[in-house]
Amino acid sequence: MRAFELESVEAVDQAVSHRRVHDGDAFIAGGTTLLDLVKLDVMQPEKVVDVSRLPLKQIEVLDDGRLKVGALVSNTDLAKHEIVMRDYPVLSEALLSGASTGLRNMATTGGNVMQRTRCPYFRDPAMPCNKREPGSGCSAIDGINRNHSVLGTSDQCIATHPSDMCVGMVAAGATLVLEGPDGTREVAFEDYHLLPGDTPEREHDLKPGELITHVILDAPLGGGQHYLKLRDRASYEFALASCAAIVTLDGDSVSDVRVALGGVATKPWRATAAEEALKGQPATQENFERAAEAAFKDAVAYSHNGYKITLGKQAVARALRDATAAARV
Ligand SMILES: Cc1cc2nc3c(=O)[nH]c(=O)nc-3n(C[C@H](O)[C@H](O)[C@H](O)COP(=O)(O)OP(=O)(O)OC[C@H]3O[C@@H](n4cnc5c(N)ncnc54)[C@H](O)[C@@H]3O)c2cc1C
Ligand code: SF4
Repeated sequence: MRAFELESVEAVDQAVSHRRVHDGDAFIAGGTTLLDLVKLDVMQPEKVVDVSRLPLKQIEVLDDGRLKVGALVSNTDLAKHEIVMRDYPVLSEALLSGASTGLRNMATTGGNVMQRTRCPYFRDPAMPCNKREPGSGCSAIDGINRNHSVLGTSDQCIATHPSDMCVGMVAAGATLVLEGPDGTREVAFEDYHLLPGDTPEREHDLKPGELITHVILDAPLGGGQHYLKLRDRASYEFALASCAAIVTLDGDSVSDVRVALGGVATKPWRATAAEEALKGQPATQENFERAAEAAFKDAVAYSHNGYKITLGKQAVARALRDATAAARV
């Protein structure tokens, strides 16, 4: 492991100005992703700015009904917060399906947003990887790609975005608050992560020196909510396919619906085609399956991951079924 300088900061403006000094610097919050990647020599910061003592650990309800979550709120505290459990159960379920209790206690909201792909070639500096080293090639496209994406891919990168929390946030609706050298700005959560396109090394819309200070959840949507995660093991495993669904009923018809996918796409994925297919339709199994087909109509399979199209459709249909059942309670 390379040596790096560690600096601890107590205020947001201090964090922003310290991180700005070197391009290769990184923030550290819970450390559950960053330290692994430094040990593997995938990330090589000269200086690490410890932001874990910043006053960003609060969850507060805003006057307009939105919920403002500090970037240092742990995944456990967010999942177990009474308002999140009551008004955003899809997010609570997504968070509790991630990692392990110990990791969730350390992992922070901002760090989870910023976690990197688990593509094994990305994590092995001996292998070509356009995301780690632009222009070097993609080892996964013609390699072992069982865990890779079927949606949002490019001929440069097919890596999957690994987060569960982000899928819940895309379904619930959220905004990121960023503090940087040029002040504060806000970005819609579902626009924040970028498709790989020709620049897979650019994974998100965070500018150099910027810090995520908060995530603000939209006012609660109500409806029935469910997060379904399908994986190789029952716990402590990333999703092969996951679906966050929020269904609002008017009688027996779906008046509103939001669907987001994980494990199958290069970014936390809003499945608008599935939503359009279901809105205004009777809440039946047949229509859930039609929506699932729509969600994957543009999917592209590689040599080992075609099963994810089938699995993903099943995740969508089952999550819609269970969210609808919750809406009827
Ligand atoms: C074994 C294992 C299993 C896991 N399983 C799952 C899973 O099933 N589902 C899932 O969703 N996740 C899973 N994770 C990932 C875990 O959720 C993330 O590691 C965690 O959320 C990262 O948060 P952190 O605070 O530890 O980030 P850190 O490791 O401290 O930082 C991660 C990155 O975010 C940057 N960063 C941190 N805070 C900020 C900020 N406020 N603003 C800007 N940049 C920032 C850092 O510079 C770094 O690049 C797993 C991790 C491990 C190690
Ligand atoms: S899929 Fe992306 S992260 Fe994985 S090797 Fe290819 S370029 Fe790298």
